[in-house]
Amino acid sequence: MEKEIRILSADTVNEFFAAFEKDWKRALKASQINPDNIKQIEPGSWLVGSQTSLGKYAVLQGKDGAWSCTCADHKNRLVNCKHILAVKATLETVEIPKNDYFDIC
Ligand SMILES: [Zn+2]
Repeated sequence: MEKEIRILSADTVNEFFAAFEKDWKRALKASQINPDNIKQIEPGSWLVGSQTSLGKYAVLQGKDGAWSCTCADHKNRLVNCKHILAVKATLETVEIPKNDYFDIC
């Protein structure tokens, strides 16, 4: 099958820009997480493979919409860490089958 492209929603793009302004290294690392390393366990619960070890981090979204992660970055700094950003990007991604591409002039 032909490759598909992923397009981030405007909300996610805005969040990435905001993350870049605050800490460009974190946003860059989030963008490098392969969506194949993100597995949804149940609604509101994901496992994200570490980029630096064999470990995994649990990303949770509470019923109030608040995000949390088991990594040190989130626990210590209470920020949306790269794992949360990556899960959100996967959720809000729209995949377009290659056959549906059209030329933009
Ligand atoms: Zn994390």
